[in-house]
Amino acid sequence: MHRFMTESETALRDTARRFAEKEILPRAAAIDREDRFDRGLYKGLAELGLFGVALDEEAGGSGMGAIGACIAMEELARCSGAVANAFAIPVEAVLFLHQHGNARHRALIPGILAGDIIPATAVTEPDHGSDVAGLRTTARRDGEGWVLNGTKAWVTLGGVVDALMVFARSGTEGGHKAISCFLLDGGSPGLIRGKNEELLGMHGLEDCMITLDGVRAPADAVVGPENGAFKMAMGNFNFSRLMMSAMALGMAQAAFEDAVAYAKSRKQFGGPIIGFQAVQFMLADMSTDIAAARLLIHHAARLCDAGHAIAKEAAQAKLFTTDMAMKHVSNALQIHGGNGYSREYRIERLFRDVRLAQIYEGTNQIQRLIIARQVEKDMA
Ligand SMILES: Cc1cc2nc3c(=O)[nH]c(=O)nc-3n(C[C@H](O)[C@H](O)[C@H](O)COP(=O)(O)OP(=O)(O)OC[C@H]3O[C@@H](n4cnc5c(N)ncnc54)[C@H](O)[C@@H]3O)c2cc1C
Repeated sequence: MHRFMTESETALRDTARRFAEKEILPRAAAIDREDRFDRGLYKGLAELGLFGVALDEEAGGSGMGAIGACIAMEELARCSGAVANAFAIPVEAVLFLHQHGNARHRALIPGILAGDIIPATAVTEPDHGSDVAGLRTTARRDGEGWVLNGTKAWVTLGGVVDALMVFARSGTEGGHKAISCFLLDGGSPGLIRGKNEELLGMHGLEDCMITLDGVRAPADAVVGPENGAFKMAMGNFNFSRLMMSAMALGMAQAAFEDAVAYAKSRKQFGGPIIGFQAVQFMLADMSTDIAAARLLIHHAARLCDAGHAIAKEAAQAKLFTTDMAMKHVSNALQIHGGNGYSREYRIERLFRDVRLAQIYEGTNQIQRLIIARQVEKDMA
């Protein structure tokens, strides 16, 4: 019999779904309204073992790879985009530290898996977003160690971060060649957190600017090869784009479920609006595109787990899924009529939350550039 997921993947999906429906869903609206990071839920995800979902078993994870991470992500995002977004950060951090870190960096992995050490990644700067290779934060050698100066923007979980991975220019060469990654203690003197950003959606992410004002780091704070972090970041993006795709998929699925339920219960012109072909066709398109996106994500994740290069496939999954999610969450809101425009209904939050997915982890314009470049190579 053909199976879309293995037994262990189905069990993982069910575990994530149970937790999301029982613990996350009842708190999701309050997290959004109060714009607060829910440490209890974060810890709950850690206790379920989900932060190590993609990490190898010998490193303390459950070894379920990118496919496992995407399956869990979809379920969490179906109940809260913000909680799902926070979930992505430790999942990616432990992979990054395990793959590139030294013994001291790897020693943080158990604490991150347990939810006791909160990681965050700081690549973007106020004047350098898509143009990662142009970043200006500097790391200057000082005796045995380093001194970092610069400003990082949009650091997710920046307000609560314990272990910050900062990308900085560590050599004199411009462009991508002289960028290193530094693992900094969140409490380092000179590491200054700005106030939390007031975001359209995805509330509760403690997203803020971080200024590095002469922050000292030991020589062994460099993660991976000195001046080699650009390539590491790009490799990491492939995985994180799959996570972002699965996050958008989960939100589209939630919007679809809400739209069907609303269309069945809302009556106009003497019958439920699901009887109107215009509504039926919107639901049919949603159902089809959601199924297509899931296939695209699972295909790319399985290729990733099999060790293939997936720059194009991850970009395609991200581009297709996040655009389709935005379109269909908007259509689901349309099906709710005026009620869709009200905070009374979850669709309003989904509409605000899902918009980020087209921007984050490389905008969808950048995804098109990546796909086009690879297409050109494939056809050479
Ligand atoms: C809520 C939130 C959380 C975030 N979290 C993090 C985080 O934890 N860590 C982190 O490092 N960053 C984070 N980011 C930053 C995010 O990755 C960037 O916002 C994103 O990469 C885009 O960069 P930018 O905002 O500077 O836009 P820009 O790069 O200035 O782009 C502006 C517009 O120009 C387009 N554009 C730019 N270059 C090109 C090109 N070559 N071709 C075609 N179009 C182009 C873009 O697609 C976009 O439409 C976060 C952002 C947000 C909003």
